[in-house]
Amino acid sequence: MRIAMIGTGYVGLVSGVCFSEFGFDVTCVDIDADKIARLNAKEVPIYEPGLDALIERNLAAGRLAFTTAFDEAVAAADVVFVAVGTPSRRGDGEADLTYVYEAARQIARVMREGTVVVIKSTVVVGTCRKVAEILRAERPGVDFSVASNPEFLREGSAIEDFMRPDRVVVGAEDERAEATLRRLYQPLYLRETPILVSTLENAELTKYAANAFLALKITFINEIADLCEKVGADVQKVASGIGLDNRIGGKFLHAGPGYGGSCFPKDTSALAATGQRHGAPLRLVETTIAVNEARKRDMAERVLAALGPDPEGKSVGIFGIAFKPNTDDVRDAPSLVIVPALQARGVRVVLHDPEARAQAEPLLPGAEWRDNPYDVADGIDVLAVVTEWNLYRGLSLTQIAGRMQGNTVIDMRNIWREEDVARAGLVYRGIGKGAASKRSDPLQTVSN
Ligand code: NAD
Repeated sequence: MRIAMIGTGYVGLVSGVCFSEFGFDVTCVDIDADKIARLNAKEVPIYEPGLDALIERNLAAGRLAFTTAFDEAVAAADVVFVAVGTPSRRGDGEADLTYVYEAARQIARVMREGTVVVIKSTVVVGTCRKVAEILRAERPGVDFSVASNPEFLREGSAIEDFMRPDRVVVGAEDERAEATLRRLYQPLYLRETPILVSTLENAELTKYAANAFLALKITFINEIADLCEKVGADVQKVASGIGLDNRIGGKFLHAGPGYGGSCFPKDTSALAATGQRHGAPLRLVETTIAVNEARKRDMAERVLAALGPDPEGKSVGIFGIAFKPNTDDVRDAPSLVIVPALQARGVRVVLHDPEARAQAEPLLPGAEWRDNPYDVADGIDVLAVVTEWNLYRGLSLTQIAGRMQGNTVIDMRNIWREEDVARAGLVYRGIGKGAASKRSDPLQTVSN
């Protein structure tokens, strides 16, 4: 089976490479000639652990190709995946489906009889049917199928997520589409991964509902963290206590500076806009969006408060700019709100991120960068941890303290323990750590 993957971004690249690892012939297509040239030179344009080795192996095996030749790739394919971006549309928060529809028109012109077109991009309910209409209108009389196959991989663990997903969601309404998707995912089926085949609408909505629920879970624990700070409780203990309940589950219960990234912000907005458009407003989702946006600004306020009444001219060091560890993706990252908010008050900002500098530097003009995290500490008044890269966990706090001018550490990811930070002579401010939460806790039976 020959696959054409349209769009070689995070999802298209990882999915294409993984399908080639399953043994299929895959041609990844992109309009970005520079990206394709780099991939052909075995240079991976994104930071994703393990991806380079898989690309090299499958290129060598002749199962994987990268090209800008859209028409050739589609004309030769049995299955065409669409994995182009669906960013937020300015103004109304709806998903911008321009790239999807443009790809559909391009596919229509050259697809052969019997092609299965699979929409992997995250698209609002009704999009797959519109894609089918476009294909039909452009090529009346040509037989084809349209399927939905939303992707649930997470940046930073994308290969593992693709190879060992919790489930595969498929919207397929004819035999050819269903049989094709089942065959493509057969390697997972053998591992007993549930493959849920349903209607196009069910598949499309499942993706948005999943992301909105996860965003809501994060936002919920963030608000509980705020309450913990007021009442002297510790959000990590509370999160453990509720997370061990199987009905709740422990994942996505880490309090922090608010969610960001390439998916949750735009997908929650698109889902809220869809609800409004259909007269079924999703008030929980709308509130989640508002609370999360306010939280990013609040994080900047916390840092400013730690600088004292006159922050102008003071210096803040920031560890971690990517929206989460193990990625260089900075789309909608909390750091992109926090850094400019500090600069707007005349604060000098010194940044470190092990992978995201190239992506973030043009977005954060005026900030200083250091390649070594210890160098960030030189002469700063406050240090803030915004992204929990593992490398920060093991740093010498004594060395950091020795190089700082001030003594406050704002740990927005709770990666350090207060006693360790205090031992280095620094003042620790975590998230959701109320003042009374440190007293000896006779109910300490839950282990983290
Ligand atoms: P991305 O912006 O990284 O990549 C999209 C790519 O598509 C770009 O390289 C662009 O040049 C290319 N492209 C656009 N139009 C094209 C065309 N007509 N022909 C060929 N190439 C074209 O996007 P992404 O992060 O990979 O996301 C893609 C989709 O997958 C989105 O709908 C997103 O919501 C969804 N998704 C993303 C993630 C994630 O973690 N990034 C996870 C699950 C789902």
